[in-house]
Amino acid sequence: MAYILSVFAVRNLLFLSLALNVSLILRVLLLHDSQDGSFNGLFFAEQKKEALATKITRLSSSVSPSSSSLTMAQGDEDRVINLDHGDPTMYESYWQKKGDETTVVIPGWQFMSYFSDATRLCWFLEPEFAKQIVRLHNVVGNAVTENRHIVVGTGSTQLFQAALYALSPCAEAEPISVVSAAPYYSSYPLITDCLKSRLYKWAGDARSFSKNGPYIELVTSPNNPDGFARRSVVNGSEGILIHDLAYYWPQYTPISSPANYDLMLFTVSKSTGHAGMRIGWALVKDEDVARKMTKYIEINTIGVSKDSQVRAAKVLKVISDNSEGPNEGDSFFEFSYRVMAKRWKQLREAVQQSGLFSVSDFPPQLCMFLNRVFEPQPAFAWIKCEGDIEDCESFLRGKKILTRGGKHFGVSPKYVRISMLDRDKNYDTFVRRLSTIRS
Ligand code: PMP
Repeated sequence: MAYILSVFAVRNLLFLSLALNVSLILRVLLLHDSQDGSFNGLFFAEQKKEALATKITRLSSSVSPSSSSLTMAQGDEDRVINLDHGDPTMYESYWQKKGDETTVVIPGWQFMSYFSDATRLCWFLEPEFAKQIVRLHNVVGNAVTENRHIVVGTGSTQLFQAALYALSPCAEAEPISVVSAAPYYSSYPLITDCLKSRLYKWAGDARSFSKNGPYIELVTSPNNPDGFARRSVVNGSEGILIHDLAYYWPQYTPISSPANYDLMLFTVSKSTGHAGMRIGWALVKDEDVARKMTKYIEINTIGVSKDSQVRAAKVLKVISDNSEGPNEGDSFFEFSYRVMAKRWKQLREAVQQSGLFSVSDFPPQLCMFLNRVFEPQPAFAWIKCEGDIEDCESFLRGKKILTRGGKHFGVSPKYVRISMLDRDKNYDTFVRRLSTIRS
């Protein structure tokens, strides 16, 4: 009797723990999904339910001994593929292979202070991280670092806000206009107008901006979403430029020369794939601007996580070491270049087979870092639905492919943006499905 009771209790416990785990995972998934402003609409809610149902089925089948690999394969063809976000999970396999090379152990007593180096302009910037930033830019040759101040941020998202704060004239009666050429990164308008600031306000497509006076233009190069190299487009004399160079790395585009602008933003999210570290950096020419950006981050978050900076420094160091050393062939940029090249080839073949879509061609160029000529292979595919499909995002949603539609980027809904940085399994299922879509 006692034996039966104890077995029963253990079974109950196991079942309870499984149920708790499933509910916890679902809560995390729901929270994650609801954080994106573009996730709305009734139909979409239905899709979310369906996606969750797929996740639950897969979760429960993975603990059920009766699930066969055949059922899993069938489910795979049918499941919802979410390529809406640019989550760089494709890089996990590389860092996994590197094993402990980038492991960082931090004793409990370390990095307890708010300060990193009180004598520096950016007093919360870890000196080792600053050193590795300069080294990596010199190794890759993608940005000038001489006579620049480095400001670290919680992702380049925070640095973008710090830059708006620092560059906005505070004596003006009206907020300064912030513009970017469409299609522009969908977060710019959301971030700019989030707090309805009296310092700055979103003024839309830079190509149709003709107001006199000062303005801030965001130049994203290569551009998110369409991958083209860009220059400023507004022809005013009082423009202040922010160059968002999140994708100016050799896996995405040939590095033709070191970028040399007044204010440049970079992030580990898209360079090394460590979006979860939430680390970005700005290279700033003007001391006053760098000081104001630092002030903003002080007011906003009293600095930036030291743990993350130390981890980021280690990752950048390993990339630089491997790019220069005898293992060059196995370097991070060689690996990521090859994955991107393969994915773009697969995508172009799928687009051709389907006949319903189109993607841009890019002119090839010499990459001074990889020492080869290649066409840009952007982190996002900017796909156009041809023929009479007016809403490409809805059309693909009907095929269980979640994308971000053109209207979020200030252009026609005939376009969608698709992340090219997901894990192999998702990406392969996506291209296979895309190639079979006929109407
Ligand atoms: N700028 C651009 C152009 C981006 O695409 C992204 C990420 N999607 C960011 C900035 C934000 O980067 P972070 O994760 O460093 O905040």
